[in-house]
Amino acid sequence: MDNPIHIINLSRMVVMGSDLWGSVKPTIEKLGYKNPIVLDDKVTRGIVGKKVTDDLNCDHFEITSPTMDQVNSVGDIIKKEKYDIVVSIGGGSVIDVGKLAAFNVSVPFISYPTVASHDGIASSRASIRDGEKKLSVEAHPPIAIIADTKIVSQAPYRFIASGCADLISNYTAVLDWQLAHKLKGEYYSEHAASLSSMSAKVTIDNADVIKEGLEESARKVLKGLISSGVAMSIAGSSRPASGAEHAFSHALDMIAEKPAMHGEQCGVGSIMTMYLHREDKYKTIKEALEKIKAPTTAEELGVSDKEIINALTIAHKIRDRYTILGESGLTEMAATKLAKVTGVID
Ligand SMILES: [Zn+2]
Repeated sequence: MDNPIHIINLSRMVVMGSDLWGSVKPTIEKLGYKNPIVLDDKVTRGIVGKKVTDDLNCDHFEITSPTMDQVNSVGDIIKKEKYDIVVSIGGGSVIDVGKLAAFNVSVPFISYPTVASHDGIASSRASIRDGEKKLSVEAHPPIAIIADTKIVSQAPYRFIASGCADLISNYTAVLDWQLAHKLKGEYYSEHAASLSSMSAKVTIDNADVIKEGLEESARKVLKGLISSGVAMSIAGSSRPASGAEHAFSHALDMIAEKPAMHGEQCGVGSIMTMYLHREDKYKTIKEALEKIKAPTTAEELGVSDKEIINALTIAHKIRDRYTILGESGLTEMAATKLAKVTGVID
C-alpha cells in the first residue's frame, strides 16, 4: 500500500494554570459530558482528589495498583453506572488504569496529573501489569489534560527531575527511530520526530532554571511532557519517545531488586545509548541531567553495577523494536565497557 490510512488522535483541551481543581467541572461541561467518575488513590485524594469529587458532586474510585484486574473492575463500574467520562487524578497508576479502562468501554478520559514524572500523563499509551508482565497498551490520549502547576510543583522534586530525564531521553529515541527507518524501512514521521526532539532540546536549554518548588519549572516540564505526548499521537506509536534507553529502563524494571523511577532510568539509559550513536554528544545529556539533579550513575539510581550491565545485555529483547542495540544486543563485555566509559558505573 502506498498510502495506508493513518489516524491521528489528539487531546482536545489542555487547561494549564495554578490551583485548577475548580476547572474540572467547567471543562467537563464544555466537552458536553454529564456523569463523571473520579479515580484517585490514598495520597492524591488528600492532595486534590476530594476537592474535585466534591465540586463535581460525583462518585470516586480508589486505585490501588496498575493491574489488568483493576482496569477490568473500573471498566465494569463505568458500564454499570453509565459514567460518561473518567477523571484520573494522580501519578502513574491512576492515570494508566483510568486511560485504559475508559478506552476499553469507549468513554473519554481526563488526565489530572499530580506529578510530572513521565510523558504518560498526555500520551495514548498505558503501562499496566498483568501478572508478572508489564504491558504497554495502546489506548486513546486524554480528551483533556488539567496541567496544574501548583500541585505539580509541590510534589517532591524528584518527580520533576524524572520528568525532565524522560524528556531528555527523547533525543536518543529519535536517533533510534531514524536508524530503524534507514535500516529497516520503518515508518518515520519528520513532524513527530522534530516535535519530540524539540521537547528534549527545550528541556536541556532550560536545565539551569528548572528548580525545586517553582511553578514556572513545573509549567516547563508539563508543556514538554504534553508536546512529547502529541509527538507520539502524531506517530501513532511511542516511537518518537521510546528507543533503546526505554528498553534499558524496562529491562531494569524486570531485573533490578529496587528499580528507580521510569524517567530516571531512561535518562541514564540515554547517556549510554547516546554514546553508541554519537560519542561526542553523550556528555551533553549527562551534564543536563546533572544540572537538573536527575541520576546519572548506577549508585544514584540505587541499582547495582551488575544490574546495569545485565539490563544492557537484555534490552534488545524487550520488544520488537529496532534500535542502536541491533538484533543481537550487547555482549557482557561491551555492556561493561559502555557503562564504564560513560561513568554510569565505576
Ligand atoms: Zn518514557
